[in-house]
Amino acid sequence: MKRTWLLLLLLAFLGLRGGWFPAAGLCQDGMDVMEERRLAMVAEQIEARGVSAPRVLEAMRRAERHLFVPDSQVPFAYDDRPLPIGHGQTISQPYIVALMTELIRPQPPFKVLEIGAGSGYQAAVLAELVEEVYTVEIIAPLAKWAEARLAAAGYENVMVKQADGYYGWEEHAPFDAVVVTAATPHIPPPLIEQLKDGGRMIIPVGSRFRVQQLVLVEKEKGELTTRNMLPVRFVPFTRGDDAGVR
Ligand code: SAH
Repeated sequence: MKRTWLLLLLLAFLGLRGGWFPAAGLCQDGMDVMEERRLAMVAEQIEARGVSAPRVLEAMRRAERHLFVPDSQVPFAYDDRPLPIGHGQTISQPYIVALMTELIRPQPPFKVLEIGAGSGYQAAVLAELVEEVYTVEIIAPLAKWAEARLAAAGYENVMVKQADGYYGWEEHAPFDAVVVTAATPHIPPPLIEQLKDGGRMIIPVGSRFRVQQLVLVEKEKGELTTRNMLPVRFVPFTRGDDAGVR
């Protein structure tokens, strides 16, 4: 009996050292394996592709992406691709999260609206950079997931609401910036209204069956200017039952 326990202990010890349980494993320099992967992600996928704002890079180094994905995806949390988060939805590729964050030029006193909380990860990155984040998610279990994950990761400046984000979050408007993480055929007018003058919105625009454009919207003295930044592929922006379409 005793010998079995000793053998199990030995195997667990070897497993930790050998990196079979990477979340718990430590590298030689004492750095967490996940942290090491995260730093590599920022250097190789994000900085290497031209995202350069130092605060954004630091936020990407700090936000622990592996805390926001389902258990089955943890080994891939720092891979260069979107990952499934259940309910047919995905957490965006890290580079796209960083790029969208950089494009809104986040400043510490900002109040930011996100549409499409999903895993909660983009909200976490924003929460590293601005005072308040308001995020709306249409799928109830995902809204719950995002809220729980953000709380578990210690973010206290993010509010999550389950609703159709087409209507924004009027009670907390206006926002310094808006980040939309699902693709819409057109920019929802309520989101434009809830954007402050001088504010920026980043939004994937296009049909669900084609490549969409990541569009940067700037509002200046009530006038909008839009710029296509990059072809992208996002999950579709869906509508609540009240809108009659899904
Ligand atoms: N920002 C997320 C990405 C999630 S994918 C992350 O970091 O993980 C996009 C999300 O938008 C999905 O969870 C989807 O359910 C949500 N979504 C789609 N249409 C929506 C709508 N009308 N209102 C709010 N959320 C919506």
